[in-house]
Amino acid sequence: MDVPHSQVFFPNTLPELFSAWSRYPNAVPFGGGTEIIRGQGKTTVTLPPNILSLDKLDELHHITRTERYLEIGAMVKINEIINLGKTVPEVLRQTLKGIASPQVQNIATIGGNICHTSRRMDASAPMIALDARYELRTAQGVRWISASRFSALSGPLAFNPQELFTRLRIPLEQWNYSIYKKFESPYIGLESGGVAVFLVRVQKNILTDIRMVFSEKIILRDKNSEAFLAGKRLPLDRKDVVHYLELWKTYLSAIALKGELLKAKLLNFIETTIIELS
Ligand SMILES: Cc1cc2nc3c(=O)[nH]c(=O)nc-3n(C[C@H](O)[C@H](O)[C@H](O)COP(=O)(O)OP(=O)(O)OC[C@H]3O[C@@H](n4cnc5c(N)ncnc54)[C@H](O)[C@@H]3O)c2cc1C
Repeated sequence: MDVPHSQVFFPNTLPELFSAWSRYPNAVPFGGGTEIIRGQGKTTVTLPPNILSLDKLDELHHITRTERYLEIGAMVKINEIINLGKTVPEVLRQTLKGIASPQVQNIATIGGNICHTSRRMDASAPMIALDARYELRTAQGVRWISASRFSALSGPLAFNPQELFTRLRIPLEQWNYSIYKKFESPYIGLESGGVAVFLVRVQKNILTDIRMVFSEKIILRDKNSEAFLAGKRLPLDRKDVVHYLELWKTYLSAIALKGELLKAKLLNFIETTIIELS
C-alpha cells in the first residue's frame, strides 16, 4: 500500500499517536511549534514533512500538585506555569518569565523547551538543579529519567526512537537562597545566551546543599565544587570561597566552550553569587 507523504496527525490518545509514529518513523512531535517554525520570516512556513500534533492529547495538558511534588504535562504552556505563582519553585518561575516574550510564552510548551534537539534551552538548568524527573513513553511502555541524565552534558537528548516526553515531576523542597541569571546572546533577539541558576539550602547556618547549573548548548555543573562547600558554616571563610572558585575554573578549563567570553561571564556570575552568599 502506498503511504501518502506530508501528513499532519492530530491523535486524541497516545495509542493513536504511537500507531501513526510507527507508520511514519520520521514524524516530528509538535508542541507549540515556536521552535519548529522559528526564524522563518516568509509568508508561508516550511514544516517537517510529517507532524504529530500533541495538542489533542488531554493528559499532556494536566497539572497536578501534591504535598511533595508538582507534576506538569509536556503540553502545558510556559505562561500557564508562570501563572501558577508561588506553587512553582521561584528559580523555575524566574527562568520561564525570562523566555522570549509573553506572546511566545502563550504558545510555547514546557515539553518543547526541554526537547530541543540541538541546544539545552533555558528550562533545563532549573529542572536539573531542582532534581526534576521526566516521564518518557513509547508504544511499549513508560520510563522515568532524571533531568540531568536526560539532558546530559551535551550531545543528543537521552531519547529512544519514537519516544515521547509526556510529563515532568518537580520535588517541592525549600531552598533558602535562589538566583537566576540569563546571559545576553551576542546575536540579539535570536538566541538565548544561556541561563545559570544557583540554589542553596541552609540549616542552622550550615550549607547543606548547593547547586549551580548552566544551560546553553551544553549543561555545566561541577559536582566537586558543590561537594566541597556542603557542610561548611556561614559566613564562609575567604579561603573556602577562593577554593570554590578555583574548582570552577579547573572544571571550565577542561570543557570546550565556544568563546572565552562566556566562561569569563560565567565565572564572574559564580564569584558575585558566592561572595554575596558568604
Ligand atoms: C522569538 C523567539 C525567542 C525565543 N527565546 C527563547 C529563550 O529566550 N529561551 C528559550 O529557552 N527558548 C527560546 N525560544 C525557543 C522556544 O520558543 C522555546 O524553547 C519553547 O519553549 C519551545 O516550545 P514549543 O512548544 O514551541 O516547541 P516546538 O517548537 O513545538 O518543539 C521544539 C522541539 O521539541 C520537540 N518536542 C516538542 N514537544 C515534545 C514532546 N512532548 N516530546 C518529544 N519531543 C517534543 C519537537 O519535535 C521539536 O524538535 C524562542 C523562540 C522564539 C521564536
